[in-house]
Amino acid sequence: MAEGIRLVVLGKQGAGKGTQCARLSRLYTVPHISTGDILRASVKQKTPLGIQAQESMDRGELVPDPVMIGIVKERLDQSDVVIRGFLLDGFPRTVAQGEALYELLGPEGLDAVVDITVPTEVVVRRISGRLICADCGTTYHEDSPPARPWACDVCGGPITKRADDNEEAVRRRLNLYEEQTSPLLAWYLEKGLLLSVDGLGEPDEVFERIKIALVARTGRSV
Ligand code: AMP
Repeated sequence: MAEGIRLVVLGKQGAGKGTQCARLSRLYTVPHISTGDILRASVKQKTPLGIQAQESMDRGELVPDPVMIGIVKERLDQSDVVIRGFLLDGFPRTVAQGEALYELLGPEGLDAVVDITVPTEVVVRRISGRLICADCGTTYHEDSPPARPWACDVCGGPITKRADDNEEAVRRRLNLYEEQTSPLLAWYLEKGLLLSVDGLGEPDEVFERIKIALVARTGRSV
């Protein structure tokens, strides 16, 4: 079993962050912290945070930085994270969030930032047809749905489509990524933390590329 690790995983929506984070989280035995999943759970439970966040999410806009920074700070203080490390998926998304994370963790607080790169046309196609199991999070595409209609192949759970996975919201999210998240890449590059990995191809191939990049960066085998 590999030792823990402290990683940020970046990439446009639909680049395969969720899939790769699930694998990385098993490989390093670290918690996978997806801010999108935290927000969706809050929306489902109708908590005050969920009620506040839902409108921005459905429109494909970002939830305000102070709200997001508060959520992540609280999660990073929990003991599993303190002991093992973490995989941050979906945070930071703005330079302000990156700076807040740097303040929270200190200069040696991250082992690497993995950026999964995929061309825009490819992610628009992937996300507009994306289907998700509400119970276990396995993703499918309308072109290759589960064997039984609307039932997950892995756990039998109900298959759903995210409210924000429609073409209009997808394009808005991608524009936002370009405007607000791309500057983060330059910021992490300057800090010597950025590992850009080609996200095209089968999930297994992409995972291999990420592992190779991480081994080279951290000097630790997996
Ligand atoms: P995701 O599952 O990462 O695509 O996130 C779904 C939605 O949650 C985004 O479109 C945003 O509205 C919101 N969200 C998730 N993470 C963040 C973040 N770090 N900053 C602002 N909004 C976020």
